[in-house]
Amino acid sequence: MTKIALSAAGIHTWTSKLGNQPMQGQPVSANTFPSSLDTVLFSGKTATAAVAKTDNWGLTAQDRAFQAQARDYAQTIALPRAAKNDKEMQFDIRAVQELGSRGFLGVAVPKKNGGMGLGYLQTVLLLEQIAQADPSMAISLNAHNLAVSLMEKFCNDDQKKKFLKPLASGQGLAGFGMTEEKVGSDVANIETTATRDGKHFVINGGKRLITNANIAKTFVLLASTKPGEKARGITTFLVDANAPGFTRGEIKDKVGIRGADWGTLKFHQVRVPEENIIGSENDGFKNAMYALNCGRVLVGAVCLGIAQGAFDRALAYARKRVQFEKPLIEHQAVLHQLARMEADITQCRQYVYHVAKLRDQGADFSHEAAIAKLQASEMATRVTQQAQLLLGGNGILKEFEVERYVRDALAMPIIEGATNIQLNIIGKGLQKRSQSERSTS
Ligand SMILES: Cc1cc2nc3c(=O)[nH]c(=O)nc-3n(C[C@H](O)[C@H](O)[C@H](O)COP(=O)(O)OP(=O)(O)OC[C@H]3O[C@@H](n4cnc5c(N)ncnc54)[C@H](O)[C@@H]3O)c2cc1C
Repeated sequence: MTKIALSAAGIHTWTSKLGNQPMQGQPVSANTFPSSLDTVLFSGKTATAAVAKTDNWGLTAQDRAFQAQARDYAQTIALPRAAKNDKEMQFDIRAVQELGSRGFLGVAVPKKNGGMGLGYLQTVLLLEQIAQADPSMAISLNAHNLAVSLMEKFCNDDQKKKFLKPLASGQGLAGFGMTEEKVGSDVANIETTATRDGKHFVINGGKRLITNANIAKTFVLLASTKPGEKARGITTFLVDANAPGFTRGEIKDKVGIRGADWGTLKFHQVRVPEENIIGSENDGFKNAMYALNCGRVLVGAVCLGIAQGAFDRALAYARKRVQFEKPLIEHQAVLHQLARMEADITQCRQYVYHVAKLRDQGADFSHEAAIAKLQASEMATRVTQQAQLLLGGNGILKEFEVERYVRDALAMPIIEGATNIQLNIIGKGLQKRSQSERSTS
């Protein structure tokens, strides 16, 4: 039986500098995919008995093969560009074509609609790997997937053919327009309006903090079609980026996620045909909540990648850096610090994968998605800060890269609903459960 050693044979090699000494680190991560197994899968040979039907993470050989493809792109193409994109605060537009040609813009979309026909677990694996290299690119993909998930679930066949298929097959990115100047968490109170005019709607208003604002081809937009009716008066629309009266702007000088395009959307008398309503008029709030649930699972994946990226660098550093005549990792306090980080990431990974599988099974996953997002975002914040501490003064230097993960982690407790909102959702679930327990007792 061929043995596949889950050893330090990670696919990527991190090179950095420690003082004047060039350092070659080979980070070992719990989800590192061994190159030997990689070869088995990609050579087309049947994986041997050493590859169990599913591994410790519940991943099949096919999942692992997909994960390896994602990792290959992330480490060989995305990682070398990530620091520059962060520094120059730009989204690398080449990524759209590169991701698209690999099928990565439609992972969970059925093949008939232009996608790969896989599931959310695989989308999570993709975003986790991309975020390990470049969290900004992963956040771009997250926004795209959020909009695409909504389209896949609620669009009719004609809309799927016209709007979803080009996106899922890699011809462009999608954006999700919800947040406004005066309205963030309180989505039901959005002020952008869509007023019926015969067979069209006329949209006026604005959105801000929108990922992919300047690069997306199509937007899923939330607008109020019955002002004053709050959630019962919101409709979701498909809006083409080139619609007359629709203008977009950049947001400058971000602290984190600097390599993603983030901006504003302005609508001045934008006419959208009624065929572009997703689902039914005034029934868009639930569509948006579904999309946010999907997005929360994916933000969980991004958090795993961010934490793993920082952890790998801290581990490599602790092996190499000598203080008090031994490597940092041989100081028990440091080892315990690393052990806590490893435990933190591992626990979250299990849960995020679990919630992705719930979504793939068609189960209600809203409560679990809020838990996954809450925990993973807090975990990423903790782990990145611990990693930075472990590098001492070098943790403040850009060339050691950990500081980029720390800054990118800052956005995670806010995106897709801030921490208090996740707690509200989880709390409501608890209240519902105790009410139903009371009524049956
Ligand atoms: C990286 C990133 C990408 C994003 N991409 C998009 C995108 O593509 N599309 C989009 O539409 N939006 C996007 N957003 C915006 C995001 O959805 C909002 O920032 C988020 O919903 C919070 O809204 P807000 O910033 O207006 O904060 P507010 O709603 O003003 O909240 C401020 C604070 O008050 C707390 N708070 C608010 N209400 C309550 C309450 N009822 N109880 C207790 N505490 C409360 C919040 O927890 C938060 O800490 C993105 C944000 C980030 C950081």
